[in-house]
Amino acid sequence: MTLKSLKSYFENSLLERYPETEITSLFFMLTEKLLGKRRIDVVLEYNEIVSEIEIVKFKDSIERLKNHEPIQYIIGETEFYGLPFKVNASVLIPRPETEELVSFIHQNIKNKISNSEFRIIDIGTGSGCIAISLAKNLPNAKVFALDVSKEALNVAQLNVELNSVEVEFINANILNWKQDTGIWNLEFVDLKFDIIVSNPPYVKVSEKSLLRPNVLDFEPHLALFVEAEDPLVFYRNISQFAYKTLRTKGQLFFEINEYLGNKMVKLLNDEGFVDIELKQDIFGKDRMIKGVKL
Ligand code: SAM
Ligand code: GLN
Repeated sequence: MTLKSLKSYFENSLLERYPETEITSLFFMLTEKLLGKRRIDVVLEYNEIVSEIEIVKFKDSIERLKNHEPIQYIIGETEFYGLPFKVNASVLIPRPETEELVSFIHQNIKNKISNSEFRIIDIGTGSGCIAISLAKNLPNAKVFALDVSKEALNVAQLNVELNSVEVEFINANILNWKQDTGIWNLEFVDLKFDIIVSNPPYVKVSEKSLLRPNVLDFEPHLALFVEAEDPLVFYRNISQFAYKTLRTKGQLFFEINEYLGNKMVKLLNDEGFVDIELKQDIFGKDRMIKGVKL
């Protein structure tokens, strides 16, 4: 089979499930990963023969795509804030709205990093995308990242190496931060942070039916869902943790569920934060919030 006929075979196999333009870009993502050929190489070498082993790999990817598995898990990587990130089923695939959150943080801390004691912590780091993109762009900051999932932290560690940054990882459950055991008993809670950021689970279990199968069937539920009885449980706990551990004038940033903007303003107010700013994403949905500790 030539590259050209492989492309037609690939397109015909997926036509029922994906729009045509998406299929073409999926094909080129796979040629880059499986054959080391970029779009331009493929087009210039259309008549080259593809080996049997390589065809089998394409067929396997086609089956996975037919099942709605995200391409990022199939090729094992993605891009966030212009940086490469490895991903697998233990971590949420970083979202464009989270890039907006990182950019919002940058706008707010420009010129504020005066010394190497500037500390940032990312709570629920997953792939490490927030912590690592901040570390890469703020070389003087000391960045910490916390997650309850050891598997997620293993992926985040690979991403630290891939991006040549330094991040200190903490494996802990943020909902236990008031307990006097394990990590919470250590010096770590006595550190003072300048920035606390989190994109915690915020999809209510009752909103499950709104998720598409590529998300619902493949991404970690631990990263996505929060019990419907208390959808703000992570925000309340993290705000209280932040109130205790932020320095004066330290800033707290969250990514939020678009339906919880007003409730989040109230929550941050009730927890004692000032200069609260609710911000929309590029689709005009309430998606980010910032508060400052007096
Ligand atoms: N920061 C990544 C991002 O923005 O793409 C991942 C965010 S994902 C929505 C939420 C993360 O919180 C997951 O990695 C999950 O493992 C972690 N998490 C869930 N429950 C947690 C808990 N109780 N304590 C700490 N982390 C938790
Ligand atoms: N934005 C993600 C989604 O739509 C959810 C991320 C989260 O729960 N923090 O699936």
